[in-house]
Amino acid sequence: MAIISDDEGIRKREKKNPIIKPENIEYDNTFENSIRPKDFDSYIGQSSLKETLKITLEAAKKRGKPLDHLLFYGPPGLGKTTIAGVIAAQMGVEIRITSAPALERPRDIIGILMSLKGGEILFIDEIHRLNKVAEEILYPAMEDFTLDMTTGKSQTAKTLRVPLPKFTLIGATTKAGELSSPLRDRFGMIHRLEFYTIEELTKVVHRTAKILEVEVTEGGAKAIAMRSRGTPRIANRLVKRVSDFAIVKYDGVIDENVANESLDILKIDKYGLDTTDRALLNLIIEKYDGGPVGVETIAAALSEDVRTIEDVCEPYLLQAGFLQRTPRGRKVSPEGYRHLGIKMPSLQTSLFGDE
Ligand code: ADP
Repeated sequence: MAIISDDEGIRKREKKNPIIKPENIEYDNTFENSIRPKDFDSYIGQSSLKETLKITLEAAKKRGKPLDHLLFYGPPGLGKTTIAGVIAAQMGVEIRITSAPALERPRDIIGILMSLKGGEILFIDEIHRLNKVAEEILYPAMEDFTLDMTTGKSQTAKTLRVPLPKFTLIGATTKAGELSSPLRDRFGMIHRLEFYTIEELTKVVHRTAKILEVEVTEGGAKAIAMRSRGTPRIANRLVKRVSDFAIVKYDGVIDENVANESLDILKIDKYGLDTTDRALLNLIIEKYDGGPVGVETIAAALSEDVRTIEDVCEPYLLQAGFLQRTPRGRKVSPEGYRHLGIKMPSLQTSLFGDE
């Protein structure tokens, strides 16, 4: 299986329309690709997804038909792109990877669709950001494997139906709720990826350390796992960071002490919160009495993009129970106060003050 990515096109268009995945910025793709699991055995966790997929893949193979279109959703770094690659490898087909912001003009999506071969997989990341025109081109492509193209102008315009090879679309999104329902309805399977447990992340750490040829003890792996916010991409990044410390400051081995000391220096606390997460919680507590406060206000005060706050920071803070989402905005929970070591103001203050 080869992964063909239209990186060049994406890069050009990203200049105009940047994809906000800040945790990717310092990440070089060669590292990420070199440690990406290529089969079900090395893809750790997500057991219910793997079980369902194995059956679906087997059935498609037995029928000799391409796989149904699949939609994966969940916070960044949980393995949506990776599982798409595993599926392609398992089916013995190629996968073409692109992202909705790179499909700005109709000819971008038409070009990709027309270049696909039978059975191939088209992976569209951030599919909730697809524009209306691209979506409408996709509907008949997904449903009937045809492309409806209009030629000529106004009265002389003609619609041409161009047959396409039978392909599988795999969409990935951090926001399933923002997908239009006609698009969502055209996926045969929709699956949410879950945050990983400490045990699963410990396995991810061991696997990555082995690939990087760094020695890590069980305690060291667990310490990194505990600060990885339930996310394999973060676990991988931390292994790399901590291994730098281990080589430069210690004897090269990552044990529990080395991991904890390095992560403290990197300002990643014992729940995996980094400076931005803590700044977010502190802001709500100090400036807005713990909330509720709207996400736009939070983003502006932190000089962050709303999408970064919603897609990257919040999912884990909500899952860990430090933040609560209410109709009037975000609130810091009692656990959030406790984690920061700040006393929560009592809920009821007497109307008459301290009498
Ligand atoms: P997403 O597409 O959801 O943002 P990716 O599929 O790009 O996330 O995964 C990010 C990185 O995390 C990958 O490079 C891969 O090495 C690692 N990873 C993701 N899922 C798993 C998994 N289940 N087991 C091991 N490593 C994983």
